[in-house]
Amino acid sequence: STGLMKGKRGLVMGLANDKSIAWGIAKACADAGAEMAFSYQGEALKKRVEPLVASIGMSEIIECDVGSEESMDAVFARLKEIWGSIDFLVHAIGFSDKNELRGRYVETSRQNFLMSMDISVYSFTAVCQRAAAMMNPGGSLLTLTYYGAEKVMPHYNVMGLCKAALECSVKYIAEDLGKDGIRVNAISAGPIKTLAASGIGDFRYIMRWNELNSPLRRNVTQEEVGKAALYLLSDLGSGTTGECLHVDAGYHVVGMKAIDAPDI
Ligand code: NAD
Repeated sequence: STGLMKGKRGLVMGLANDKSIAWGIAKACADAGAEMAFSYQGEALKKRVEPLVASIGMSEIIECDVGSEESMDAVFARLKEIWGSIDFLVHAIGFSDKNELRGRYVETSRQNFLMSMDISVYSFTAVCQRAAAMMNPGGSLLTLTYYGAEKVMPHYNVMGLCKAALECSVKYIAEDLGKDGIRVNAISAGPIKTLAASGIGDFRYIMRWNELNSPLRRNVTQEEVGKAALYLLSDLGSGTTGECLHVDAGYHVVGMKAIDAPDI
């Protein structure tokens, strides 16, 4: 343990199972000495989340549907009750109807567009409002995004628009909360096989493409996202806010791979 997060308390939102990016981040923070509470969505996930949280020596788990203001209020009221203040927050939540995460973006329905924006974008602003109100100076807020915000990726569709809006909200919130010494950042993770990712069309092909075409010639792991999160959430990242840090084996810098590359 590095002790980097010793004395820091935070909320991790979006833990579904041991493949979740939230889990990679939680493990890295636990190793560094953080104390954490976890929110999960729906009773069905509780029995999966409970033993995971116990395995890193924590126990505070709270139900939260980010589509509901009351549900979010209840989570922060609980944190206020047990801790009084918090030092960090991880938002690892996104959702869209998987029938619209395949085929053409142009077919997107109004209903799914608004729902995806609500759950995947507005929810970060909503938790930042509540977290900032009880955050210590030096506080850090983190969300997860994807390259589909920047360039067209097959099947990412409405989630690409959601991530573009999410990345922009990181910049606006960074400005708003910077005066209070609170930092706000995003990690743009390369493709990782998780529950949410399995809803995206041809996801195996996207992973393979990334593996063949990224500078590191491989995919990233949830542990690597966890290590980058540790930088942004701890005092190592004290000079960084409004940033979107790519943890994608370098994929985002490649325009085209050279024809003489040995592995095409
Ligand atoms: P995951 O399925 O493990 O996590 C997604 C989480 O969102 C789940 O815990 C789910 O319960 C939660 N969620 C969905 N709707 C919710 C709601 N209404 N209220 C509360 N929680 C809700 O998958 P993941 O890949 O770990 O996703 C975490 C984040 O990482 C997402 O924002 C995703 O877009 C992002 N991301 C994932 C990848 C990837 O390849 N897996 C790449 C880049 C970014």
